[in-house]
Order: sequence, then C-alpha cells, then structure tokens
Amino acid sequence: MKEQNKIPYKIYLEENEMPKQYYNVRADMKKKPAPLLNPGTLEPMTAEELSGVFCEELVKQELDDTTAYFDIPEEVQDFYKMYRPSPLVRAYCLEEKLQTPAKIYYKFEGNNTSGSHKLNSAITQAYYAKKQGLRGVTTETGAGQWGTALSMACAYLGLDCDVYMVKVSYEQKPFRREVMRTYGANVTPSPSDTTEVGKKILAEHPGTTGSLGCAISEAVEAATSREGYRYVLGSVLSQVLLHQSVIGLEAKTAMDKYGIKPDVIIGCAGGGSNLGGLISPFMGEKLRGEQDYQFIAVEPASCPSLTRGKYVYDFCDTGMVCPLAKMYTLGSGFIPSANHAGGLRYHGMSSIVSELYDQGLIEARSVEQTEVFKAAEEFARVEGILPAPESSHAIKVAIDEALKCKETGEEKTILFGLTGTGYFDLKAYENYNNGTMGDYIPTDEELQKGLAGVPNFPGNEIK
Ligand SMILES: *Cc1c(COP(=O)(O)O)cnc(C)c1O
Repeated sequence: MKEQNKIPYKIYLEENEMPKQYYNVRADMKKKPAPLLNPGTLEPMTAEELSGVFCEELVKQELDDTTAYFDIPEEVQDFYKMYRPSPLVRAYCLEEKLQTPAKIYYKFEGNNTSGSHKLNSAITQAYYAKKQGLRGVTTETGAGQWGTALSMACAYLGLDCDVYMVKVSYEQKPFRREVMRTYGANVTPSPSDTTEVGKKILAEHPGTTGSLGCAISEAVEAATSREGYRYVLGSVLSQVLLHQSVIGLEAKTAMDKYGIKPDVIIGCAGGGSNLGGLISPFMGEKLRGEQDYQFIAVEPASCPSLTRGKYVYDFCDTGMVCPLAKMYTLGSGFIPSANHAGGLRYHGMSSIVSELYDQGLIEARSVEQTEVFKAAEEFARVEGILPAPESSHAIKVAIDEALKCKETGEEKTILFGLTGTGYFDLKAYENYNNGTMGDYIPTDEELQKGLAGVPNFPGNEIK
C-alpha cells in the first residue's frame, strides 16, 4: 500500500490540540450573508425579537458576522472529550480498490451514540439554554439524528427535550424514537394535534406524512407558547455552522500536522451545517487569499436546493412562523417525494453556504439515490464503516473525483466529510439490496409549485 509508513490510517489529535474556539467564516466574507427578516415588517430581525424563540447567547452568535472566533465553553470542551477528536482517516483501502493516484481522506463524525456530527451543536445549544436558566428546549427531527443528539445533550445537562419528529420517520424508524425516549425526550409525530399550526396543517393536508418544515413550525410554537422553553435547530442557522466548525478545525490541524493540503473538499448538503463546518477554516484561507481549494456541495437530485432552487428570501418552515432567510430554496411548501430515502430533505440551505455558492466559491452537484447507495456499498465493503445515506452523497462524489484522477493521472488530495453511520437506515439499505429502490427527480412543474409559495415583495422576485 501507498505511503503506509508516512501517514497513519487514522490521524487523531492530542487532547491539547483540540480546538478551544469556534471559527466564524462570516468574519472573513467581504459580502456577508443576508440578514434574517421579520416576515411582518421585512426589517432585519433584532436580537430582542429573536430571543423570544432562541437562547440569548445563541442569538448573539447568530447575528454576529464580524467576530472571527468564539470560545468553546469549558463544559462543552469536556463533553467533546467523550467522543472527540473524531478521526481523520486515510482511505487507503478505497484508493486501492479504485486504483486511483488520488489521496482520499475522510473526517468521520459517526463515533458517538447519536451517530452523526449533530451532537457537536446539540451540546453547545443545550449548554446555553441551561446557562440561561431555561427548563427545556423544543425541536424538530427528520431522520432522527438531530433529535437523538439533542436528547443526549439534554440528558447530560438535565434539561427537558420535546422533539417533533416527521411522521413518516416516526413510523419508519421506531428504534430512533426509542433511543430518544431512553435519553428522556418526549417524542411527538408531526404534524400533530398538540399545536395550533399542526392542527391547521392536518386540516389542509389530511393524511400527510409530514416534513421538516411542518415539524419546525410545531416545535417553534411549543417553545414560544410556554414559559422557560426555547427552540433549537440542528442545521441551517449560522450559529450551527459556527459550532460545526469544530469538524473543519480538527481536520485542518490534523492535516497541517502531517503537511497535507487538500485540493478538493467535499460535503453532503442538507441544511448545510456539516459542509459549512468542514470547509469553514479552509474557506477562511481562501477568502483571505492565502490558499486555494475546490469545494463541492453534494445534494440529492430529489431535493435540489442549490442546483435547481432560487436565491431569494423564503420561509424556513411550512407554517411560516419563522423569520425569512435569504437562501437557495425550493419553496417552504416543497415536500420531497416519499420514495426518497436518503435524507437531506430540507427545502432550503444555510444562508452562509448559499452566499458562498452564489459568489462562485462553492460548486454544487446533485446525485440520484441509487448511485448514492451503490457508492455506500462500495465504501462499506472496503473501508468497513456502514455510512449514513446522507454521508454517502459525499462518498459518491469523492469516488467520482478519484476516478477522474485515475483518468488524468493527477494525484489530487481529496477530503470529504463522513457525517454519520447508517444503522437506522437499514430499511433504505433493504430496498437498495432488494433492487426496489428507485430514483426520483422532480419535474420543473413540480418545483414551480413549491417556488410559487415564496413570499412576494419588492426585490424578492424570482428570476
Ligand atoms: C443531518 C445530517 C446531514 C445533513 O445535515 P447538514 O446540516 O447539511 O449537515 C448529513 N449527514 C448526517 C449523518 C446527518 O445526520
């Protein structure tokens, strides 16, 4: 095997090399992401307005686009020590299998019980809720990784945790639900009749299996209608990308330790948090003109926010109770086809990732789910890890890039984010193995329907 003596299979950091601060990539962006708007006044949301929904300290982080570094609280650093640093793995076996001259690395975030990178932000958000003296937090979960991560963080800190779980997942993933309940969370299938917005959605769409957008609306209502609760979100928001920068900071320190410079950095993109977190410190260098990198966001062809969406202000949720965010969006009413099993089903995209993409600093590709599962299978067979379907979007494009190198003979260094494990996605793997998994690409007419729901005000016209 190549270079086995020089670079270890797994590069771990020492405890004292772990990041003590998060990096806020917005600080280095000349053109900043557009601010969140109040849907009533169309004015930028103030800290005061946001703090009715979110914890105070997190509101400060959300609104701050100039401070480059934020301290990671000591308690959060201690919690991280239970499952971090996450390994940076040299995919020697995959390289061998592909017979590529490319060097492939992946940063593996699945080494904790929740099985994904989401715990990195869950603990920080729960920490600030606790520090503010709140009783608990509410949230939505789609596939269940975020809900699981948050319930672990809340159990650790002694906070209540109310999770609105997209109904289709609640039914298809009973084991996820039980993990959350074991950590003490209350789990409600969404839409439900426990909230006004849930009742409204049920009346308008009887029999709906739900969506992340619906579950967000319910969770926000559950937080704002009770004393001592705030809402927390597992992706999309700038504060979440800030917390997830721990992924990129660790990866960069580990690579610097061995003098490795990635040429291509790839991440799957749902709401954009793992991608944003992984690329942040590298993007910072690019923005400051110190280094150049190629960044690729990978999304499902069935929910193609970046590649087929529009860059406009839109609602973050179906019930239209959240602030407006400027982002690449398919419209808050867009619900991906029920046959889509691969996660990453959010209609919008982080405003940071959206702005970087709009400036041409990030590329985007969309891939179909059967080719994603094929890449997952190939990866699992040689690298051993059973990847989450979401993560496998990044695997697919990493393999594509490595195969291109095989053709051109280029020895590129590829880094991708392996965000989690697929143990709760075995139903989807079963469909793939049985050959019953299909692909679904929405037509332009279908996308048009979702986009028709984008709020209409001067300057926000869809071009
Ligand atoms: C939630 C999740 C994603 C997508 O979310 P982002 O905010 O886009 O990172 C990707 N992979 C896994 C395993 C997840 O749980």
